[in-house]
Amino acid sequence: MIAKTQKLGTTDYQAFCQLYIDGQFVDAESKATLASINPYDHSVLTEFAMGDKADVDKAVHAAQKAFPAWSGLPAADRGKILLKLADLIEQNAQELATIESLDTGHPLRDSLGIDVPRTAATFRYFGGMADKFQGEQIPVEAGFLNFTYREPVGVVGQVVPWNFPLMFTSWKMAPALAAGNCIVLKPSELTPLTTLKIAHLMTQAGLPKGVVNIIPGYGHSVGQYLAEHSGVAKIAFTGSTGTGRKIVQASAGNLKKVQLELGGKGANIVFADANLKASVNGSAWSIFHNQGQACIAGSRLLLHHTIADAFLDEFVKLAKSIRLGNPLALTTEMGPLTSSHHRDRIFQYVDIGLAEGGKILYGGTVPEDPELSKGYFIKPTVMEATSASQRIAQEEIFGPFVTVLRFNDDEEALHIANSTEYGLGGGLWTNQLQRAHKFAKDLKSGMVWINCYKRVNPGSPFGGVGLSGYGREMGFDAMREYTQVKSVWVNVDAQIPPYYVR
Ligand code: NAD
Repeated sequence: MIAKTQKLGTTDYQAFCQLYIDGQFVDAESKATLASINPYDHSVLTEFAMGDKADVDKAVHAAQKAFPAWSGLPAADRGKILLKLADLIEQNAQELATIESLDTGHPLRDSLGIDVPRTAATFRYFGGMADKFQGEQIPVEAGFLNFTYREPVGVVGQVVPWNFPLMFTSWKMAPALAAGNCIVLKPSELTPLTTLKIAHLMTQAGLPKGVVNIIPGYGHSVGQYLAEHSGVAKIAFTGSTGTGRKIVQASAGNLKKVQLELGGKGANIVFADANLKASVNGSAWSIFHNQGQACIAGSRLLLHHTIADAFLDEFVKLAKSIRLGNPLALTTEMGPLTSSHHRDRIFQYVDIGLAEGGKILYGGTVPEDPELSKGYFIKPTVMEATSASQRIAQEEIFGPFVTVLRFNDDEEALHIANSTEYGLGGGLWTNQLQRAHKFAKDLKSGMVWINCYKRVNPGSPFGGVGLSGYGREMGFDAMREYTQVKSVWVNVDAQIPPYYVR
């Protein structure tokens, strides 16, 4: 039984802080629990059940049992349930956003204004997609009909990180469910609450039991075991590149399908002709939104040498003005980092950068405000590197820490931008059409934003190349990821000469 809970408004955590298996909220077999910590004041929000291998077995079994009926349901009926869920998410927006802000430190302004609407939009998009995604008829030799089925893969394991737990639950679940798969999902042990709340809403939306199962737990036990499990046909993972490698190895036993959304080191390039005001604001958003805890963050700021000083004056002025505070206050623009461990890691990068000759232009320390002293805060941090090969210019820091680099011409900008092993998202600010298109083509990156940054939409493919992983979320590509193709040949009236002439 869950020991500690806290009621906040209508939120009674006890109602959903267990494992969700076969349509029921249940304790872990081991009865283990873990505390969910509020990163703003280090208080315990609640305890929640922590699963292990025995719970994964139960969940996979439930998903296998549910699969024939769910995949056999008319696609439009699956879609209707997702559409209903999208409505319920909107009706429960305030509660979901509040839980997300308490559990992760996201400013409520973002949880309410971005995370919840995007979550609802994703379930709605794929609810509508369910009966529109179809196989093909292929023109082959005369006398034959050849067509394809797009069949669900079966039971899929999904593992998500802590930086956007609510939104990533929808990105993972919506296309998988629309395509007819059943799911066992592991949220991050740091931030499981909104994912469990979604399970609560799924029951209300009429999702049949067993179709979705949620097992909070540690990566090395629940995540690893899901990736190994012979009853799981596909594993979809969002997280770090290091864990992605372990997932690939663990998946080898039954050669399961693997989809990986991994880390990034986004280049955000500002050319001399860029609109200064728009590029300063957009570049700040690209790195400081969600405390920089975003795989697509513009964490490398590449500036043309002729505008670098003027740009940095404005950029640092803006960084200094960002309002840090209680995530639940609607005026707060930057909350705490999600865990103290993660903040320590960012401070290590401040030291690494300084040791390599980097120059702090702002931040790198905790805020002075005593009100914030219990939270895992760090000031927006701007550090100029001396070279693109420095660790702060190569490694993913995953916080409100931007590495500044200067370039002399387009060729050098492209060289620096493509000089990491990651390739997730990158942006450019320019008014020159030809340059914009050339960079869009030549950047080694799954996504490119021109005169904007970090735009996402349920219809637009999301994913990376290189160490940023493979496979795509969103849009028709996501439906392809969650289905397999079967090619069927029919002899309609073909005259097949006998091979063995007797
Ligand atoms: P992480 O890799 O440590 O953990 C991600 C998830 O994997 C967690 O649920 C964790 O419990 C689980 N996990 C850990 N070890 C595992 C194992 N051996 N087997 C299976 N699962 C395991 O990453 P994180 O620190 O939670 O998240 C930050 C990382 O995620 C960053 O690198 C970031 O770039 C990346 N990320 C990528 C995307 C994308 O779409 N490309 C989006 C968000 C975050």
